[in-house]
Amino acid sequence: FEPEGPKPIRKLTKDVINQIAAAEIIHRPANAIKELLENSLDAGSTSIKITVKDGGLKSLQITDNGHGINKEDLPLLCERYATSKLQKFEDLQKLGTYGFRGEALASISYCSHVEVVTKTKYDGCGWKAHYQDGLLISSKPGTSVDPKPTAANDGTVITAEDLFYNMPLRKRAFKSPSDEYTRILDVITKYAVHNPHAAWVCKKAGSSLPDVSTPVGSSAKANIASLYTPSLAAELLEVPMTTLKPENRLSARCKGWVSNANSNWARKGGWLLFINNRLVDSSKIKKAVDALYTAYLPKGASPWVYLSLEIDPAKIDVNVHPTKSEVHFLNEDEVIDGIVGVVQTALAGANVSRSFTVQT
Ligand code: ADP
Ligand code: MG
Repeated sequence: FEPEGPKPIRKLTKDVINQIAAAEIIHRPANAIKELLENSLDAGSTSIKITVKDGGLKSLQITDNGHGINKEDLPLLCERYATSKLQKFEDLQKLGTYGFRGEALASISYCSHVEVVTKTKYDGCGWKAHYQDGLLISSKPGTSVDPKPTAANDGTVITAEDLFYNMPLRKRAFKSPSDEYTRILDVITKYAVHNPHAAWVCKKAGSSLPDVSTPVGSSAKANIASLYTPSLAAELLEVPMTTLKPENRLSARCKGWVSNANSNWARKGGWLLFINNRLVDSSKIKKAVDALYTAYLPKGASPWVYLSLEIDPAKIDVNVHPTKSEVHFLNEDEVIDGIVGVVQTALAGANVSRSFTVQT
């Protein structure tokens, strides 16, 4: 047996590179929805409506009332590494937007058929454009690729159809559209709790009854009541905005809502963590808060926790891969100590007020 000699090294073509990247960034419909709704929030929207067909595999549509996209920018919209949000690497330190890498729409256009309708408040009419593999395409063969004028409201409507049509293996891996829909609802629900200033709607295509529906200018607690249950919201304790361990100059603040010591929700539990407005996981924070609750809850029960943590942007690296949700930051142990402290104060305060009510 003679081993074969080495094959020649060749550069991958741009299309293969982008296809691989798309598959990494958009694992499933819920990843696409997260990217799209973050874009809508970045555009300053106060109304975000999502319609889903077959768990997002047939189609995902998101309609916002944000600032829209300039017609001149439409040719670049779905190109990889094209963004309006970042120019210099240093800007990453003080980034105020979710997006910055210009990869989301590109990735979506590499694994679905994308249609965009957009209108800024300066435009007399809206513009409609179609995309394939990063590029503007014509909607009908033989017609020009330019964006076409169309009637539209201010804002942007993005439709992604036939997700993974060109990735048959990935497509086959999704057995249940209803499971994908549940994941989509979970993402939207969490963003709606954290962004109650905006009105949120999510429904299945063809259904008149939305599964998520919140009014504009709501509050986190009101959205928890309507999106989870009123009884959960009624049992929650507020963690007011608190500077964590001011003596340690951590420049970190935290607020949120947490279940009380004898919440019925304590069985299933729930966990919503936002750091600098990004939905993230931190197994260290979760472990520490769960450990605090073991003193209060029956064995095997978990708390329901929504925490919004703000830390100095210079102490957290946002430049991690978009699907990597586990984050790390400087002074992690001290910050976690501080978080456990504020949750404990909320729990202790509730116990004090309860024993007062019992006594009177
Ligand atoms: P990023 O968000 O990292 O910039 P995206 O691929 O998600 O990259 O979006 C590319 C660009 O398209 C954004 O920088 C923004 O200018 C524009 N854009 C995308 N979605 C919207 C939207 N809903 N409203 C206004 N502009 C949008
Ligand atoms: Mg984006």
